[in-house]
Amino acid sequence: MIENNIKDVENLLNEARVEIEKIKNLKDLEEWRIKFLGRKSLLNELFSKIPNFEISDRKILGTKLNIAKKILNELYEKTKEKIEKIEKKYNLSFPGKIVKIGNLHPITKVIDEIVQIFYKLGFGVVEGPEIETDYYNFTALNTPEEHPARDIWDTFYLKKEEGILLRTHTSPVQIRVMEKYSPPLKIISPGKCFRRDAFDSSHSPVFHQVEGLMVDRNIKFTHLKGVLSYFIKEFFKKEVKILFLPSYFPFTEPSAEMSISCVICDGKGCSTCGYTGFLEILGCGMVHPNVFRIVGYDPDVFTGFAFGMGVERLAMLKYGIDDIRYFYLNDMKFLEQF
Ligand SMILES: [Zn+2]
Repeated sequence: MIENNIKDVENLLNEARVEIEKIKNLKDLEEWRIKFLGRKSLLNELFSKIPNFEISDRKILGTKLNIAKKILNELYEKTKEKIEKIEKKYNLSFPGKIVKIGNLHPITKVIDEIVQIFYKLGFGVVEGPEIETDYYNFTALNTPEEHPARDIWDTFYLKKEEGILLRTHTSPVQIRVMEKYSPPLKIISPGKCFRRDAFDSSHSPVFHQVEGLMVDRNIKFTHLKGVLSYFIKEFFKKEVKILFLPSYFPFTEPSAEMSISCVICDGKGCSTCGYTGFLEILGCGMVHPNVFRIVGYDPDVFTGFAFGMGVERLAMLKYGIDDIRYFYLNDMKFLEQF
């Protein structure tokens, strides 16, 4: 008789263990508790039968039942704790974790802005290789070997004897585009350039330029002025005075250096503009007839203008950054501001 009851307790424990394994929430756990530990549970029923046994058997069954009750209580508490931990972990009413979203590098952002402004004027975007040949970087841009103007750009050569170099400007893209397409043309070309410059507050051996080229019949210097004036106003979002000063580049004639009234002090004079009230922004000019001849355009039929602007310079003026090195140090405190 008592053996059957002891067997019942063991079966009850086995059943309880199997069932609790499957439980994943507190509601199901409560049902389990009522079933195995509640007032109407089999365990309680067995407890109530104790007085019916011989005294010696009462002790055996009582001990067995007390151990079973302890085991069931422990199972219950352990499972409850486990479920609560998981539910807390996935509590949907908890405030969310703030995920850090990356942002574009200020140089990338400024290039995108420049591209957008010229896009509105109908300029297409073209990119060219950063590793160039002597021919595209110099010769085709009216700067043959031994030409003194080659010294303007301190060049990184990869294989000097084969004329393989890191482009010193984005102008080689002009040649590549004109070789491939016939006029009319309206393109800009953003990209990296390399020069053997010191790495100081205003120079970097790697920097970015945006090249521009427009070729058609009857393109005049006034078109260049119009396009660049529009660009500057859109880029700085304010009215600025524009000044063209004569300059020299082998691939443009006439050549000019474009300055704008200082966007920091509005032309009153400050340390950024060297108290002149003006800032040099870019180099430009009318495409040299020799460059047209090299790519097979007839300079008597077509004219065009070209310009090249330094992206870092524009970004520094736009955001009031006084040291070019900030762009390359990967300092998160700096980069996160953009
Ligand atoms: Zn100034």
